[in-house]
Amino acid sequence: MRVTVVGAGYVGLVTAVCLAEKGHNVICADLDREKIDKIRLAIPPIHEPGLEELLRRNVGTRLVATTSLHNAVVDSDVTLIAVGTPFDGNAIDLGQIRRAAANIGTALRNTSTYHLVVVKSTVVPGTTDEVVTPILEAASGKKAGPDFGIGVNPEFLTEGEAVKDFMYPDRLILGGMDDRTIDTLAALYSPFNGVEQLRTNNRTAEMIKYTSNALLATAISFSNEIANLCSALGGVDVVEVMRGLHLSKYLSPILPDGSRSVAPITDFLWAGCGFGGSCLPKDVKALIAHGKRAGHPMSLLEAVIRVNEHQPHQLLALLRRHFRSLKGIRVAVLGLAFRPGTDDMRESPAIPIIKELLAAESEIKAYDPAASHQAAKAIRSQHFALCDDLVQAMTDVDAIMLVTRWEEFRRVPELLAQLRPQPVFIDGRRMLDKRTIARYEGIGL
Ligand code: NAD
Repeated sequence: MRVTVVGAGYVGLVTAVCLAEKGHNVICADLDREKIDKIRLAIPPIHEPGLEELLRRNVGTRLVATTSLHNAVVDSDVTLIAVGTPFDGNAIDLGQIRRAAANIGTALRNTSTYHLVVVKSTVVPGTTDEVVTPILEAASGKKAGPDFGIGVNPEFLTEGEAVKDFMYPDRLILGGMDDRTIDTLAALYSPFNGVEQLRTNNRTAEMIKYTSNALLATAISFSNEIANLCSALGGVDVVEVMRGLHLSKYLSPILPDGSRSVAPITDFLWAGCGFGGSCLPKDVKALIAHGKRAGHPMSLLEAVIRVNEHQPHQLLALLRRHFRSLKGIRVAVLGLAFRPGTDDMRESPAIPIIKELLAAESEIKAYDPAASHQAAKAIRSQHFALCDDLVQAMTDVDAIMLVTRWEEFRRVPELLAQLRPQPVFIDGRRMLDKRTIARYEGIGL
């Protein structure tokens, strides 16, 4: 099929390159000329394992990149919208969606065959039918249904594992206004043999995405609330509590051969310094705001956000136990990305932690295997220095804070053992064995 993907961000670019790899002819369209120039040279504009190889294989043959959305749509059968949907503090900001829909609609004036428009961005239930469809109809002068179809196909990929997640999805949610729309969407995904598909209407498809993210966010805040109580009670370590919880047959059923099948949700039932990224925080907030508008306040999810926003500060509270004042204290922050495997720092817990350290006039050194270039843009202070490697970050500091679960940080105990005097080590992810570090502090300990 001839496919246009609008938006070449984390979701759009991965979608475009993976659909090309699966045999479709894909045009990747973005307003950002710098991104498009890089894609044309098969240089990934984001850090994502496997992306470069797929770009090299497909750019110039089945994948082309352009800033001209109009021509791309006219030359396609299907257009996927994968632009950003941030939260503006009050509600979901549909500005990028509205502009993309208006541009696609204008291009649809010049198409002579049935075209399918699919919303892949995460949008609150009702957006596609009530916002996107009227914009497309007005701009195209055509009617949704007979002239073009409109569907919703939410994306569940995780940054850092995006290519693998897209190529081997756990489900395909095919939302559509009618059977023709859903059938066309199913044809787009026909190279994904054997993946379970759920055919539904647009609103339900939109709601499935929010429900999935809200559950994961709830699991994380639940674990963090339990962790904070463990700390307050004393004599209880949340790591053991969570291990005991994971042994429940609901989370790790015992198989006939006596082994256990551990449910991946257990990864979210683990104490830490909170969730971040471009999805969970904004999606939960958008759903809460949408619930309020619908006359249904969501008190559980409000608490999930409250716990999460407080959680990064728990690390500072642990640090303050060791120093009368944080002024002039030299602190190494290990990890800046919101999760390992990505360079994305959007809503990373590292940001409030660094801001609070700067406000307290600490001297900060930071190291991240992938996100340094993002940090250089996001944080500018003479008291904040980026390091090239882990050893440099850990040298000559009074305290070390682990914020992101990068595998590389497993080396920390061995490196710490060589340091005199020993800095305080604060494990914001409960990643390392407390018995291997002299001055260990951790969430939920
Ligand atoms: P992003 O900010 O990385 O990328 C959005 C891209 O859209 C940008 O490159 C921007 O220049 C481009 N753009 C905006 N308006 C445009 C227009 N009118 N025409 C052409 N290009 C335009 O965003 P993202 O992280 O890829 O997220 C995209 C959507 O997918 C969001 O709704 C997000 O919630 C959802 N989502 C994201 C993830 C994730 O892990 N990032 C996972 C699942 C779903």
